[in-house]
Amino acid sequence: SIEIVNVSKRFGDFVALDNVNVSIPAGQLTALLGPSGGGKSTLLRIIAGLETADSGRIEIEGVDATKLSPQKRNVGFVFQHYAAFKHLSVARNVAFGLEIRKRPKDEIRERVHELLKLVHLAQFADRLPSQLSGGQRQRMALARALAVQPTVLLLDEPFGALDAKVRKELRDWLRRLHDEVHVTTVFVTHDQEEALEVADEIVVINEGRVEQIGSPDALYDTPANDFVMRFLGPVT
Ligand code: ATP
Ligand code: MG
Repeated sequence: SIEIVNVSKRFGDFVALDNVNVSIPAGQLTALLGPSGGGKSTLLRIIAGLETADSGRIEIEGVDATKLSPQKRNVGFVFQHYAAFKHLSVARNVAFGLEIRKRPKDEIRERVHELLKLVHLAQFADRLPSQLSGGQRQRMALARALAVQPTVLLLDEPFGALDAKVRKELRDWLRRLHDEVHVTTVFVTHDQEEALEVADEIVVINEGRVEQIGSPDALYDTPANDFVMRFLGPVT
């Protein structure tokens, strides 16, 4: 589980997050949804420990993580533009986190094989990242994030740079992957359709504030205010 308690963040005079409170149950796939500049990435980076909040706290699995480093929080992170190690094979990229943790070689080989099967990249193990398509690269990024068995998986518009058809494939695939792996996942998107289709629960964020938290059905059927209604409404 993730508890975000009274989290605020400013950049100079600009309020990026204004007293955000969100409670995310273990094993849930949660979408952070909102327009550009609303504070989604900032909140994700604060959960990951890549950014510090001015006030408030983050609890992960009941432990106050506010002062813990990203490594100690045991979070997996995937960004929109994934930075792979260009000179390492797909398998070595996925193995990276296990290698720096000095896991036994046999264990690493087995785990990497499992992960590559999970993301349907087993036949590409020996390729370089540059020899993969964009969608395949993002799947590799997910395998790499999952390799160290994170408590929490954080995805910041992981499919944002891809075309609509591939996005939709990966979105369906992420849903199935999550049903298999069940790691607590927070997924950032500004695409309401993506959030409605993939998430167990949606947190709508706008101008640094939480507008509404609820299931896709609840948000669609009973939006809390005009903003949510307009944002979730039919695309025009
Ligand atoms: P997008 O959908 O475009 O990625 P977002 O919801 O992820 O948007 P954030 O990246 O969290 O938005 O940014 C929220 C606000 O904080 C924006 O107005 C942004 O310009 C500002 N901001 C973010 N990081 C910094 C920074 N390091 N310095 C100054 N301002 C920042
Ligand atoms: Mg962002």
